[in-house]
Amino acid sequence: MLDLAIVFVVGLSVGSFLNVCIARLPENKSIVKPSSFCPHCKKAINWYDNIPVLSYLFLMGKCRFCKKRISIVYPAVELITAFVLLFLYNQFGLSLDLFKYGILFILLIVVSFIDIKYHAIPAYLCILGISLAVFLSLISTIKAIKQGGVDLGLLPVVITVKNLIFGLGFAYLFKLFGDFFMGIYLGFQKKDSIEGETESLGLGDVDFMGMIGAFLGVKAVILVFFLAPFVALAYTVFALIFKKSHLIPYLPYLSIATFIVFVWGNNIWNFIL
Ligand SMILES: [Zn+2]
Repeated sequence: MLDLAIVFVVGLSVGSFLNVCIARLPENKSIVKPSSFCPHCKKAINWYDNIPVLSYLFLMGKCRFCKKRISIVYPAVELITAFVLLFLYNQFGLSLDLFKYGILFILLIVVSFIDIKYHAIPAYLCILGISLAVFLSLISTIKAIKQGGVDLGLLPVVITVKNLIFGLGFAYLFKLFGDFFMGIYLGFQKKDSIEGETESLGLGDVDFMGMIGAFLGVKAVILVFFLAPFVALAYTVFALIFKKSHLIPYLPYLSIATFIVFVWGNNIWNFIL
């Protein structure tokens, strides 16, 4: 029980750091210095006002100095991170898998919230994820070779690179098809874009699917790709009911779909077949 509490508190602190990344990475600012400050009045935030979730509740969502609203996104990111890490710890214990999938979902949280805020993601985040996945598969490969008797084609690093190429290729193929049909549609409509979009899928989405392939494999790529539109549809219905009209970019849907596939992927796959 104590270990779960520790993981949860560590998760909240990681989430707090992710908030800094989400706010600063897209603006190419340092994530180390300066320490946190209020985005409205720029006053430095005291450590006791910077405790994950609790400070938000205690201050009732307002800055101590200027009393302007603090975005609900901050505690949300902290709670999501804590629950995801708790879930992973429960599944894998303290292990290389916990570390591997922890990195994946931390990156998904960061790219999703950056995409919501800026409608774009820094390309290096997915490249970083892909590099880490390949690096971790190298560690597993060294372990496998030491144990001996493994087929070269079944070495973790070979499988990871194959899955990476599949993810990139699969998404890029759909991008080409999508762009082709979108081009025809825009030609007929004599327009340049659909609500500002000129491409069916951005290259960021392609990198993202490469990352999903490298971490989770071929089945996950296919399932995530076809599940994400349903997640988007569910949100759209929700938004219509609650009259929240603003459009959300695609990466958050892909990330939610990834989590669903991570938890229930085998069930979904068996159900479809
Ligand atoms: Zn303030």
